[in-house]
Amino acid sequence: MSRQVWRDCFPLVTIPALDFTMKNHKYIFVIGGVMSGVGKGIATSSIGALLQAKGFTVNLMKVDPYLNVDAGTMNPTEHGEVFVLDSGLETDQDMGNYERFLNRDLASDDYMTSGMVYKHVIDKERALGYKGKFVEAIPHVTNEISRRFVRAAEVSKSDISVIEIGGTIGDYQNILFIEAARVLKLKNPGDVLFFLVSYLPVPGTIGEMKTRPTQNAVRMLNSYGVQPDVIIARGPVALDQKRKEKIGFSCSIPANQIISAPDIESVYDVPLNFEKDGLSQIMLRLLSLKQSSRKDGLLTWKKFVHSVRSAKKTAHIAIVGKYFDTGDFVLSDAYISVIEAVKYAAYTVGAIPKLAWLNAKDFENGSTSVEELKQYDGIIVPGGFGETGIEGKLKVIQYARENKIPYFGLCYGMQLAVVEYARNVLGLKDANTTEINPKTPHPVIDIMPEQKKHMADGNYGATMRLGAYPANLKEGTIARFAYGKPKISERHRHRYEVNPQYVKKIEKEGLVFSGTSPNGVLMEIAELPREIHPFFLGTQFHPEFKARPLSPHPLFVEFVKVAVEGSHKATE
Ligand code: GLN
Repeated sequence: MSRQVWRDCFPLVTIPALDFTMKNHKYIFVIGGVMSGVGKGIATSSIGALLQAKGFTVNLMKVDPYLNVDAGTMNPTEHGEVFVLDSGLETDQDMGNYERFLNRDLASDDYMTSGMVYKHVIDKERALGYKGKFVEAIPHVTNEISRRFVRAAEVSKSDISVIEIGGTIGDYQNILFIEAARVLKLKNPGDVLFFLVSYLPVPGTIGEMKTRPTQNAVRMLNSYGVQPDVIIARGPVALDQKRKEKIGFSCSIPANQIISAPDIESVYDVPLNFEKDGLSQIMLRLLSLKQSSRKDGLLTWKKFVHSVRSAKKTAHIAIVGKYFDTGDFVLSDAYISVIEAVKYAAYTVGAIPKLAWLNAKDFENGSTSVEELKQYDGIIVPGGFGETGIEGKLKVIQYARENKIPYFGLCYGMQLAVVEYARNVLGLKDANTTEINPKTPHPVIDIMPEQKKHMADGNYGATMRLGAYPANLKEGTIARFAYGKPKISERHRHRYEVNPQYVKKIEKEGLVFSGTSPNGVLMEIAELPREIHPFFLGTQFHPEFKARPLSPHPLFVEFVKVAVEGSHKATE
């Protein structure tokens, strides 16, 4: 038998060699069982928030099993929102949840997809990086995965990494990630924990919570050589002691390491709910860690949760977008950061956010009249791409401007506000963005010069203007007032910009570019002065990516505050 054939018969016999050290770092791997969509991301975020509250530095990491090299080229109706980090990496929306719960920025190293890993391994092989050896899923791919686990910990200088492995047990796609985590634990048994986020259904016909799917999920995980240390038992109701013991007995897990996680109203209650079953203490005990001196690290979190409950007024905000319809369902996932940003702003001003989803296409084809917009306290046109619903969005913006309804445009929403202004105030009838009409006589929004080549080459992945860029704010403007400082940094994701040739003409007619790139070339914020409109403002960047429960975004706060004050309604 040739060596090649012999190896093919025993593809798994190679003992993985780990070429890195862990330096006392702790890892918690979060894996999903039974089914998807049960809140693994929020569980991971909450675990991170709890450990941080105990005084540890934590980095949260998302592992996505798909082959896309990043999330940037995926359609939001398929994938949900593409979240952007400071570094410019386009990621899964879970990274947004992590940053919101931790109240801090995460790094590119905190995210990986199978595509990234394979690409690295294959590029290395092509460059003779494996010195002529066979390159195989195990150990080369798993070693690359482990290297990334360790590098994320080093880059973030954290004490603990909490790593969410995307997908569900039994998926073919995530096996190598689980295998890499298994080996990490094998080499460092006291430093690595496995959490299983499971689901316990209560079938309507029986009315009893069933533990079997969870038992089966644990067995399947066992078949990978992994025993969970903790089970997060998601379900429609709380898990009782009897069933905890049943799962504990059949799965060899102490019943007190099974955490009841029933459905609750707000995701922000999840960390506090985990604490009811003593999760922090369980983690510290299993990882042999001692709590630092801080007394109640969750105090500010509790205050935030209290502000959610004590809100009295309502902020009725319409979001006019296009990434809503998937089959018979309306999907708000594509705008999750926008939704969360509105929520934090509303709680800050003591209001309950009530969001309405309006499809731009309905305004375009006339099935919804712009008059309907009167009932809302404020209107947001969020980011977007392409021509669907554009004329509808323009009608909405014109109505908001003319009727003094607070308007907040995010990226595309800012560009379209400029187009609307050019058409209806400057009288440039066919003004447009060249994204929609490359031949427009008035390209008030135009492709950035460096983007032209990417488009011509069909080079779409990670080529937009991405990530954090600084901007300067003009004195005496709403933006300058809201931020309370002259210099800001915000995250971007776009290919088009306000055409510099039109800036002066537009400003002459009253629209103010209150934020610009430090060299003054790129227009980052457009707004109407307060005397003309209570709040008509758009940002070229995405402020929603930096909005967090414990540090709400100043522009969202100002927008919602003005919306709730409702001067446009009083003057009717
Ligand atoms: N499509 C616009 C651009 O590429 C806006 C992008 C966005 O809203 N994120 O510039």
